[in-house]
Amino acid sequence: MANEPGAPRLTRRGWLYAATALGAAVVAPGCRSVRGNKPEQDATSARRSNMSYDVVIVGGGPAGLSASLALGRARKRVLICDAGPRRNAAAERVHNFVTRDGTPPDEFRQIARKQLERYPNVEARDVRVESISGPRGAFRVELASGVVEARRVLLCTGMIDEMLPFDGFRELWGRSIFQCPYCHGWEMRDRRWGYLARAADSAHLLPFALQARGWTRDVVVFTGGAFEVPAESRATLETAGVRLETSAIARLVARDERLEAVELAGGARVPCDALFAHPPQRQIDLVRAMGVALDGDGYVQIDPMKRETSVPGVYAAGDLTTRMQAAIAAATAGTQAAAMINVELTMELASSGALG
Ligand SMILES: Cc1cc2nc3c(=O)[nH]c(=O)nc-3n(C[C@H](O)[C@H](O)[C@H](O)COP(=O)(O)OP(=O)(O)OC[C@H]3O[C@@H](n4cnc5c(N)ncnc54)[C@H](O)[C@@H]3O)c2cc1C
Repeated sequence: MANEPGAPRLTRRGWLYAATALGAAVVAPGCRSVRGNKPEQDATSARRSNMSYDVVIVGGGPAGLSASLALGRARKRVLICDAGPRRNAAAERVHNFVTRDGTPPDEFRQIARKQLERYPNVEARDVRVESISGPRGAFRVELASGVVEARRVLLCTGMIDEMLPFDGFRELWGRSIFQCPYCHGWEMRDRRWGYLARAADSAHLLPFALQARGWTRDVVVFTGGAFEVPAESRATLETAGVRLETSAIARLVARDERLEAVELAGGARVPCDALFAHPPQRQIDLVRAMGVALDGDGYVQIDPMKRETSVPGVYAAGDLTTRMQAAIAAATAGTQAAAMINVELTMELASSGALG
């Protein structure tokens, strides 16, 4: 692999312009294929081995799929690896994604993968990425099925939700237990809602519970006795018509795979159709092993403009970087990361004469 010169320095504003249409017009002419201008040939990969990619994307959820599309259209040679399952695999439908509202998660992925087939420079494999090593420009990416090289790596691996230790929680997750009212609130409007708040959620209890009243009149906050709710917050909940239940929770009662009630330690049952909860999350082992810096909440720290992590040449987009988790937000982040990677990589290759 040829030595890679450093990318020409750009200011923050420069990055932004370069990654938008104005910049594309400047960068694109340098992107012609060294073998000609056939659309199926990409500029940077023609002289490289079959196992060598401009960008390897780890994770085929909304972030990785969107990034693949943008990089494919920018004529980069891309490998997207997905091991499944995606975070929302338990959900029946994806909501709040304009043009895809109500689409089952598998169908969402199939549509995206089908659209990527138009770009022969994008390869999608259902395979796990085991490890990533090496320097920026020459990463060694070990897959379950072999080893490939990559000039850049984009992590789109999502987060792992740790199921709460209540009987029934895992089975009902995605069906009657949800993280986000924007995703599933409409379908559950005017029903009986619970909010299962953990001690770690105490600061969000009030905004979340009051917000829930916008979807339904019937809201109960369950603390399981895990923390004290200040008197002032109790008064606000009462004024808003939100009930507070502080007893320990024994289990979740289901019928026909749907939540029916939350059973308290004493045996009393609080009827409930939908339960909202924010279980703890963790990064996958690969991300932890790579040593990218994490913030205090465990999300990958990135440069907000370039989306580069603390490891040079490794970028991140989607749920693994933020608690603001939604499919369309992850897709947007993937597109941003792709544009930034593309600008940097193309400038680097063009300025070293590598584009021919
Ligand atoms: C139950 C539930 C319902 C939801 N409903 C909605 C909704 O209706 N609307 C909405 O906007 N949002 C919803 N969300 C949130 C949404 O699913 C996420 O915000 C979104 O999927 C994040 O996209 P992502 O690409 O960052 O990660 P993910 O979609 O989680 O994709 C990450 C992918 O990386 C893969 N991966 C991980 N490690 C490796 C590896 N080593 N090698 C290869 N691949 C790997 C995983 O298998 C996975 O496929 C829901 C979430 C949950 C939990």
